[in-house]
Amino acid sequence: MRTITNFIDGAAAPLTNPRLGEVYAPTIGQVQAHVELSTPADLNAAVANAVAAQPAWSAMNPQRRARVMFNFKALIEQNMNELAEMLASEHGKVIDDAKGDIQRGLDVVEFACGIPHLLKGEYTEGAGPGIDVYSVRQSLGVCAGITPFNFPAMIPLWMLAPAIACGNAFILKPSERDPSVSVRLAELLIEAGLPKGILNVVHGDKVVVDAILDHPDIKAVSFVGSSDIAQYVYGRGAANGKRMQCMGGAKNHGIIMPDADLDQTVADILGAAYGSAGERCMALPVVVPVGEQTATTLREKLVTEIEKLKVGISTDPEAHYGPVVSAQHKARIESYIDMAVKEGAELVIDGRGFSLQGYEDGYFLAPTLLDHVTPAMQSYQEEIFGPVLQILRAKTFEEAVSYPTQHQYGNGVAIFTRNGDFARRFAASVEVGMVGINVPIPVPVSYHSFGGWKRSGFGDMNQYGMDGVRFYTRVKTITQRWPSGGLVSDQSFVIPTMG
Ligand code: NAD
Repeated sequence: MRTITNFIDGAAAPLTNPRLGEVYAPTIGQVQAHVELSTPADLNAAVANAVAAQPAWSAMNPQRRARVMFNFKALIEQNMNELAEMLASEHGKVIDDAKGDIQRGLDVVEFACGIPHLLKGEYTEGAGPGIDVYSVRQSLGVCAGITPFNFPAMIPLWMLAPAIACGNAFILKPSERDPSVSVRLAELLIEAGLPKGILNVVHGDKVVVDAILDHPDIKAVSFVGSSDIAQYVYGRGAANGKRMQCMGGAKNHGIIMPDADLDQTVADILGAAYGSAGERCMALPVVVPVGEQTATTLREKLVTEIEKLKVGISTDPEAHYGPVVSAQHKARIESYIDMAVKEGAELVIDGRGFSLQGYEDGYFLAPTLLDHVTPAMQSYQEEIFGPVLQILRAKTFEEAVSYPTQHQYGNGVAIFTRNGDFARRFAASVEVGMVGINVPIPVPVSYHSFGGWKRSGFGDMNQYGMDGVRFYTRVKTITQRWPSGGLVSDQSFVIPTMG
């Protein structure tokens, strides 16, 4: 059986007698590989290697660093099929969706190709007599990223591309459930010309995450995962004086106004609710139709279309989505469906008990639809992260907006309407970080930035875009004076002013 090892100093770095994690093939429900789980000592070795490599990389002019990113972009494109198959085999998502996962990360690599321009500082000539002031952005040193299972290419690339382009070395701790793509990306970066030690991949679980959070040479940590862990990681890293950026879970709502184009809206909702088996932090697991008539028509159309969805293996081009990631996660999703029924929701379509012929041990779940969900239900308040869509009926626009605003999560939200006034008021007032207007999954493009509010994001800087550049650099401001004519000014015991 294949063993997935750390990648340090530009090469595979097997450990001596490590603990092993199991990497499953969710389609068949069997272990397909083992992943070595690192200790704090293993992390120390990786960080020491990165510390030694980083100064020369940071000193290299940014245009040369950008050229590595250009080469990396080309190599990802050349290896897209292989990467997508590797990703799908460990995660379970269908191949086209796996390519989308890689493409959204590739977009951030493209953004990082512009790093010479993005790193330019500010300059004020003549801020005082003979005095100029300028600010530069300098790299931090060694940074780290801890990533979730659900986007094995996109999220590592969100982090490592800006971090490295800014002149840092980076320690990537991918999800232990689907770690292979991270290693392959690190190999491609070496092929692209990245010096050894600038990207080290360290596998592991909580043990190595804690070691990252406590390591004095790691200056900034980016985390994406579930909210309780995001909050814990944020607190522990910040207490150790690190710069922290921690994205958490989500429960995104789609508000459906009576004037929405319902055929288009239903098509949008299906992909957003059930795509990737609902395992997306920007999935749309709650719809809020406004008015009884909207709810009735929406439900009818949803039922008709859900019955046409095909659940299948990731390599089936006809499949809309594949298995969920693990047996435990499947059981957890099923327990939320039980809970919803016990809480009084109406189970319109039950996705449990589905079995795919020839793949009876795979972690498949058919689509589930729940109606008459209420804000008091625990199954509404918590993230399910599976192919389960909940209908929460509202009487008015104001009531509909109050649900995402009051929810503990605030990652994404969407409104479906033809009325610009509603859309504008919605975008201005809803307490959620990313808003779609007739766009079901409003993940911002790579030159904007990604971040949720409330329990969906801890820390104050978003992922990628200019926030990515800000997160991975620190500003140094220089005030300089070049006295002319050898004049010596009087001593001053007053705080210097430019007056
Ligand atoms: P997770 O929180 O279980 O794991 C995320 C990372 O944390 C992994 O690398 C894991 O090894 C590590 N980890 C797990 N338990 C830990 C512990 N006790 N202490 C320290 N580290 C620990 O998340 P997941 O199941 O891999 O991913 C799904 C979650 O991620 C969902 O909640 C989803 O909404 C969220 N997510 C959020 C975003 C976003 O940008 N907001 C994007 C993708 C996924």
